[in-house]
Amino acid sequence: ERSQSFNSSEKHVQVIARPRPLSDNEKSQNLTSCLNVNETRREIIVNCKTSTTRFFNYDHVFGCQTRQQDVYKTVVAPIVDEVLKGYSSTIFAYGQTGSGKTHTMLGKFSIDKLSKDTVTAYMSILESEAGIMPRAIHHIFQGLQRQYIDYTVKITYLELYNEELTDLLADTTNEQPEKIKIYEDKDKTNTIIGAIEATCETPFDAIKVLIKGSQRRQTAETLMNASSSRSHSIFTMNVTMKDAQGDMRLGKIHLVDLAGSENISRSGATDKRAREAGTINQSLLTLGRVITALISNEKHICYRDSKLTRILQDSLCGKTITSIIITLSPANEAETLSTLEYGHRAR
Ligand code: ADP
Ligand code: MG
Repeated sequence: ERSQSFNSSEKHVQVIARPRPLSDNEKSQNLTSCLNVNETRREIIVNCKTSTTRFFNYDHVFGCQTRQQDVYKTVVAPIVDEVLKGYSSTIFAYGQTGSGKTHTMLGKFSIDKLSKDTVTAYMSILESEAGIMPRAIHHIFQGLQRQYIDYTVKITYLELYNEELTDLLADTTNEQPEKIKIYEDKDKTNTIIGAIEATCETPFDAIKVLIKGSQRRQTAETLMNASSSRSHSIFTMNVTMKDAQGDMRLGKIHLVDLAGSENISRSGATDKRAREAGTINQSLLTLGRVITALISNEKHICYRDSKLTRILQDSLCGKTITSIIITLSPANEAETLSTLEYGHRAR
């Protein structure tokens, strides 16, 4: 398998494709998959109904039966090892609603079970359908305990909806939560003001923070009529490490579950929805442009065009690692093609 190292000479943006299998519901409607995967050639092959077969290559391509632990091992584990040395990195999930973004990032581990029998549930996280976030938490704490004499882990968890930031860790009983702002310093670096930073001493503390924020996002989704398909969530772990020589390092990882990439206006959206869709597409488009600009070493990079890219600015440039996992719904040819093309441009 491809070994990963992140020398400065090496490309620091990688794009990974992950199709999901057909769901039972899709099968019962006699829908078929429009794509094939060639894992060794790192290729997705789309058998188009209306045009010729198309081929898309990425840095890595997973088969639709790939297990969560293998996605973690292949894509995320090498990145987290770099974070533990003091790198910054961002991992995105990009794709249409229902294609597996949340499955990939968060995955399934029973929240109810966790509050009842916390320790057992934490142990089971690592063997189950758990996604990248809980696995990264476990891995980071394991690394910290092994390699450093002292460390602190601080977590923020934000939601970006319609260019407005919400703190997913804020106390919901507080009727007027503090507004979150992005402040640009003189030296053009961005600082987030007003977000709760949860200090976590153990992996279990961090898992609880993850669950709290994710539950809140799901509740908001139900209340606001599936708004989460149009919101981005940004889970950030800031790690300060002190080694045996007393040297300090700073590592950072952002795990981002992006808004659904579907074009809402195409399905006859109302004005308000179209406006919202416009904003979200703005963030996704800006992200695509920023990543393309980074890869082609352009001088002017348009971070300022969306809040998402402003928040992530310092983790997208310089000594950083960026991975985009594009998730695919195999029964939807049009959306699959548009997702593949976005991923291809980013590559
Ligand atoms: P999204 O967050 O992109 O809207 P979800 O992650 O919620 O999509 O996935 C939609 C459904 O498909 C969920 O029921 C999820 O469990 C299932 N699913 C997604 N990806 C996979 C996969 N790789 N393998 C099996 N089931 C999956
Ligand atoms: Mg989702």
